[in-house]
Parts: sequence; C-alpha cells; structure tokens
Amino acid sequence: MTLSAEDLLEKVRKVNYCKSKAQNIHKLASLLEKERNGMVPKDFRSLLALPGVGPKIAVLLQTVVFGDVEAGIVVDSNLQRVAWRCGWTKKNEAEGTRLELQKSLPPADWEAFSLDAIAFGQVICQPRNPACSICPLKDTCPKVQLPPVTKRGRAAKCPGTVGGA
Ligand code: SF4
Repeated sequence: MTLSAEDLLEKVRKVNYCKSKAQNIHKLASLLEKERNGMVPKDFRSLLALPGVGPKIAVLLQTVVFGDVEAGIVVDSNLQRVAWRCGWTKKNEAEGTRLELQKSLPPADWEAFSLDAIAFGQVICQPRNPACSICPLKDTCPKVQLPPVTKRGRAAKCPGTVGGA
C-alpha cells in the first residue's frame, strides 16, 4: 500500500464522509493486500466482513464487478425513498427493504429494477420535490408521507430514507 491515509483523504475530500471513507479505503486495501493476495472476495459474507462494506456495496460489487445479476437488489437512499413512498416496503432502513423487495420480485429482475428505481428516485421522485404531477405512477402511488410543503419548498427530511437524501 503506497498511499497513506492522509494521501487518500486528499483524493476523496470532495465526497461526503470523506474522512471515514479514506480510512476505510486504506484499511480495506491493506487487508486485501495482506490477507487475500490483493483479491476481492466474491461471496456476500466475505464482502460484508471488509472495512466500510455494507449490504448495498456488497450486492453492487457482486452485480457490477462480478456479473452476478441475481446477487440482490441494490437499495441506496433513492430506491429506499421510492419504495417507501410507493408503499412497496414498510421498512425504513435499506437492508429490511432489500429483503422485502427480493421476496416480491423474481431474481432475474433485480438488476434492472435496482438501476431503474435508483434513476427514478434521482430524476422524478426526488427527496424535497417529487415530480408527482408528471410521474407515471401518480394515479396508483399512495404517496406515503411525502415531506410537507413549506415556504422554502418541501422539508429535506424524508420519511423512510435513512440519511434524508
Ligand atoms: S407519485 Fe410522487 S411520490 Fe409517488 S412515485 Fe411518483 S413522484 Fe414519487
């Protein structure tokens, strides 16, 4: 590992939680180098044991890097928000939502659903100002706990979304 944790911090300074991310990347690289001959494991449990890797990143790695399109649904804050508002989940945290959605959808659809729902949350069902008037789901969506409209737009906090965005 040639880069120090401080060097890494400089490279990721513009992203959220840059300090913890830099520390985790440094720990992760050192661990992979020392214990796994530089190789990233493919199975879910081994991925979860790596520093800074939770279910979202583990499933993402399995799907995108290792090509296992039936590894799972990638629940980020966008997908969590969409699933909550649409009433597809009663869980207000990503792992519960992932397991719930995976019971409802066939594995062959998980990758496409993840990509589409995340993009949908980024573009249409946004945290503060969901575009309900033009949304293709507007007639069937129960719009669960949309943030209240204030003079400055909708409140930032969005029920069902850990971290609020
Ligand atoms: S109708 Fe509104 S709350 Fe429901 S999915 Fe569309 S944008 Fe989101």
